[in-house]
Parts: sequence; structure tokens; C-alpha cells
Amino acid sequence: MGRATWDLVVVGAGPAGSAAAMSALRVRPDARVLLLDRAAFPRDKACGDGIAPHALDVLADLGLPGVVDDHRPVHRLHLGFPAGPVAAGGMRRPARVVPRAVLDARVRDGALAAGAVPGRRTVRAVTPLPAGEGLLLDGELHARAVVAADGAGSVLRRGLGLPGNGPGHVAMALRGYAPVRPDLADEQRIVFAEQDQPAYAWSFPVGDGRANVGYGEVLRAGRPLSRQHLLDRLEGLLPGATAGGSGWRGHHLPLSSRRPRQPDGPLLLAGDAASLINPLTGEGIYYALLSGACAGAAAVGADDPGRTYRTILRRRLGTHLLHTTAVSALSAVPRVVPAGVRAAARDRRVFDDLVELGLGRGLLGPRALAGTVRGLLG
Ligand SMILES: Cc1cc2nc3c(=O)[nH]c(=O)nc-3n(C[C@H](O)[C@H](O)[C@H](O)COP(=O)(O)OP(=O)(O)OC[C@H]3O[C@@H](n4cnc5c(N)ncnc54)[C@H](O)[C@@H]3O)c2cc1C
Repeated sequence: MGRATWDLVVVGAGPAGSAAAMSALRVRPDARVLLLDRAAFPRDKACGDGIAPHALDVLADLGLPGVVDDHRPVHRLHLGFPAGPVAAGGMRRPARVVPRAVLDARVRDGALAAGAVPGRRTVRAVTPLPAGEGLLLDGELHARAVVAADGAGSVLRRGLGLPGNGPGHVAMALRGYAPVRPDLADEQRIVFAEQDQPAYAWSFPVGDGRANVGYGEVLRAGRPLSRQHLLDRLEGLLPGATAGGSGWRGHHLPLSSRRPRQPDGPLLLAGDAASLINPLTGEGIYYALLSGACAGAAAVGADDPGRTYRTILRRRLGTHLLHTTAVSALSAVPRVVPAGVRAAARDRRVFDDLVELGLGRGLLGPRALAGTVRGLLG
């Protein structure tokens, strides 16, 4: 790859990185955009594979409408505790369950079709150059701007001197694929643990006889989570879900309750590298696509990409992030999550509000708040 100068180098070709490359090329079709990843695609990624409709909206805006239309929509969501309460019903807009080996390869193909140049490389170092001159990656790749979309363990974020999330703001989750329990073939099921909120097991039907099943909880200081603990919790909350399972894979989830401040300048953090995972649900694909799209546009279209991107992201997600942070702190208080579920079971609009808060850009509205308080008092 030599000493070429790129208008934009994107490190990481997951949802955030591919969205950044596509968005940059929409703003400036003649831009020279390099899309690097250490992995060969298609590649697997530890994930529940739940794709919120909001994520598909971003992809449509980037020129990839209907990119997973061959995967059947899942309309029904069931939220609750093993011994009640439970809230279940149709979601206003269906979700899809698409293995990441499929989704990410398709989105990356979209970026390559838009003109991004693919590269396989493990980036190890980033060196800022004097103001206005961009950055050097690994001492040899020169870029006017760089989008760090290198995921939860971001090397580039650390290169900026920004540490990763600490205990309380990072979750650990494990997923596998298992024959779907017949009663769970047509719904996304989430079963909350009785303690240590936010913590839950899930079963998301892939549509081919399998379900993506998993369990995740927030890491606490001095309490490491073993693979066996995660598997035991999953089987405890969703009995039979692990039977015949394979492909078990776990990973960290940097939660948006603690985010690094995006600095001014040419290096932009997107997706998990920016800790943009919903602390209530562990949903991160939508935020990765949205932040990647905003970062890519700012990287090639603004005098100070970092400052512009910071402002745009605050406008798009700022209030939502404040609300999810507050609700996740509240959810650690015993009885709050059951009260919220009871409120959602009583009032369909609360159910919809909570889905929007957990999957999209929703806020904690007066209805959900009042319903939860009523549930706590009742
Ligand atoms: C078990 C689990 C379940 C989850 N379930 C869901 C879910 O159901 N729905 C949902 O929306 N979200 C879910 N998430 C969160 C979601 O997986 C992430 O938020 C999402 O993948 C973030 O996308 P990204 O593009 O930022 O990072 P990634 O998808 O992690 O992509 C980062 C890319 O960067 C590459 N890379 C890393 N380091 C380097 C380097 N040094 N040089 C070059 N390339 C590099 C990697 O190979 C990778 O391809 C889950 C997460 C976990 C762990």
C-alpha cells in the first residue's frame, strides 16, 4: 500500500466503517477512500444478530435499501422475567435476525461498489502530523482523515490516549446458534435476570431452524465473568436454549453510558470504538451505522472533521444518549425493571416507547416514567 495519500482511511469494515466509507463517497464521489480490515470477509462477529428497523433506515439512506429483505421479518417481541411479569406483542416495525457474516459482508460490498478501495491490514499505530496535514498510520499510510471503526478494543482510540470503558460501563455477552425452541420460532424473546440489571438472555430466530441465543451482563469491578457463568445464566433463564448449540463466541460491549469525547481534528471515532452501544439492550448496529455515516460525511466535507462530527452526533443522538444513560442507572435499582415491564404490559404505548428507547433514538417519555413509578408503588 506504500506511501500513498488518501482523503480518508477507514479502519475496520464492520457496520460503522462501511457506513463511513459509503457516506464519504456520497458526499464526495471523487474522494480516495481506503477501507481496511484485519479480517478477510465474510467474517463472523459475536452478536445477537438482531437488526433494528432503524439500522435498515440508515442503510437505505446510504443507498442500500432492502439489503436484508431475503431474511424474514420478526414482528413479535416478548420481554419479561422467568416468573413474570411479562410484556409481549407486535413491534410497530419488525426487526430482522441476520448473521453478521452475511450483514457485514453485504454492507462492505456496498461500500466497495460505491468506490471504496479494500485493504487487509491490522493497523497498530496512529501518528498525528502537524495541524492540517492529517495522520500517519503504521508510519507509512498517509490520510487526510481517519475514521476509527475498529470495534470494542479500538487500537486507534487508545492511540489518541483515550482509555477503554471501565467496569460498570462495559458488558460481556456470549452467543451461540442452537435449534430454535418451537415456542420461540416466531418471536424475539428477552428474559431478564432477577438481579444484576441490566442483564438478560435472548433467543432470536434466524429463520432457518436455528436461533441466535445468548446472555449478557454488565461487568462489575472485581467480578470477572467466566464463559461458564454466561452459559449457566443463559440456560437458567431460557431452559433448553443451549441444547445442540455451537459457535459460542463472547465479546465486550462498550456501553454509551461512558463515552470518550470526540476530539477536534482528523481522527473520528465511530461505532463501538466510540462506545456507542445502548446500555439497556446491548444494541449497537444502528448506532454504528449512524455514527459511521455522520463521521464519513464530516471526514471529507468539513474543515475540522472532528468538531463538525461531534456537533452532528450530539444533534442526532445527544438527548437519547442522556436518557438511556439515566434509565440504565435507574434499572440497577431493584424492582425498577419489573415495574417497567408491568407498565409496558398494561399500556401498549409504553411498550412502543420502551422499544424505541432500547433500539432506536427514543426518549423516556412521561407515559413510560409514570407507568413505571405506578408499577413501583403498586
Ligand atoms: C454477544 C453480543 C451480542 C450483540 N447483539 C447485538 C444485537 O443483537 N443487535 C445489535 O444491534 N448489536 C448487538 N451487539 C453489538 C454489536 O455487535 C456492535 O455494536 C457492532 O458490531 C458495532 O459495529 P462496529 O462496526 O463499530 O464494530 P465491529 O462490528 O466490531 O467491526 C470492527 C471491525 O474492525 C476490525 N478491526 C479491529 N481492529 C482492527 C485493526 N487494528 N486493524 C484493522 N481492522 C481492525 C475488525 O476485524 C472488525 O471487522 C452485540 C454485541 C455482542 C458482543
